[in-house]
Amino acid sequence: MKAIIIICDGMADRPHAELGKKTPLEIAKTGNMDTLARKGETGILDPIAPGIRAGTDTSHLAILGYDPKESYTGRGPLEAAGIGLDILEGDIAIRCNFATVDDNLIVRDRRAGRINEGTEELAKAVNEISLDGADFVFKESTAHRAALVLRGSGLGCGVSESDPHTEGRKVMPITPLDGSQKSKKTARILNEFSKRSHEVLNEHPINKKRAASGKPPANMLLLRGVGEYPRLTSFEEKYKLKSGCMATTGIVKGIAKLLCMDILEPVPEYDLRIKNVVRYMDDYDFILVNIKEADEAAHDHNPGEKVEIIEKIDAAVSPLIEFSKENYVALLSDHTTPSNLGDHSGDPVPLVICGPEVRTDDITEFNERACSRGGINRIKGTDLMPILMNLMNRAEKYGA
Ligand SMILES: [Zn+2]
Repeated sequence: MKAIIIICDGMADRPHAELGKKTPLEIAKTGNMDTLARKGETGILDPIAPGIRAGTDTSHLAILGYDPKESYTGRGPLEAAGIGLDILEGDIAIRCNFATVDDNLIVRDRRAGRINEGTEELAKAVNEISLDGADFVFKESTAHRAALVLRGSGLGCGVSESDPHTEGRKVMPITPLDGSQKSKKTARILNEFSKRSHEVLNEHPINKKRAASGKPPANMLLLRGVGEYPRLTSFEEKYKLKSGCMATTGIVKGIAKLLCMDILEPVPEYDLRIKNVVRYMDDYDFILVNIKEADEAAHDHNPGEKVEIIEKIDAAVSPLIEFSKENYVALLSDHTTPSNLGDHSGDPVPLVICGPEVRTDDITEFNERACSRGGINRIKGTDLMPILMNLMNRAEKYGA
């Protein structure tokens, strides 16, 4: 038997005044998700533990059965892997923002006007710098985002960030946070990288042109999310499942890549995307799907838009009902993103597992409150894969 985990990013919410004290999932017409709930077994899940506000990265690691306390080494390595940079043992990876600073290194725009062109050429110029003590690769991602991988002997990730996280403040010097030689060396190299990349970017024709046309120049790289290479057992080695991941988010792709899962490209239309997933299951034992947009609507404080997105996702998941006659489907959210808060919260998320041999419970609707009365009760993110492995009759016996 095979399994699909479908994660609707940030879909879980809190009761909202604009929705008559209901959640977007309670308001949305979700006939297909409700069918999965009626046929399946439901519950609620704390991505990490009750009350802990999970990030998309730590939650996905947990849901895939990798305890983030052991496997999470910061966002940098995941971001870098997600945009296709190779990360090896001993490397340090860092998230970067193209930003705008003035002559005194005061940050004027942390995203350089959300720059959306020319970053590939800017990255090329940055890569021509040479640093004393380490090699590096720098690569642009979407919009103002980028990542840096440092490679050399004796590097450590116990260093601070240069991003002041607030506009109007000066770029911060990177300092070692522990007494180790490794961190001291890394801090020195990163400060050199900051200085040299600023010189190159400040003089670059693309930025001269941007400044001349009134656009904020991308003349500084703000460094944050410094992390070392995470030592992760591959998904296939851990579960003996041939696996793929279909996601649009770089961070989720980065996790999949570091777990040696195949990256499956999603098409924009949800319905076609889910059909493709089911088709891919001919060749795979397991696929993780992440659908991003409900989270974005909640970050934008827009519960109405979130309802519409949930309904679109619901319309697309109907092939999973058929698929779950002979295989398993787990549908959940990776964390709660309350539309009122505009950020992740530590509330549990609704979960349904549907498949041929689940102990169907009495729940007939898929939402936060209904699922809290379901047969799975309340579990943690790291419980999900063992439960699926057991249902697929692929779990190893503990004891005689
Ligand atoms: Zn998320």
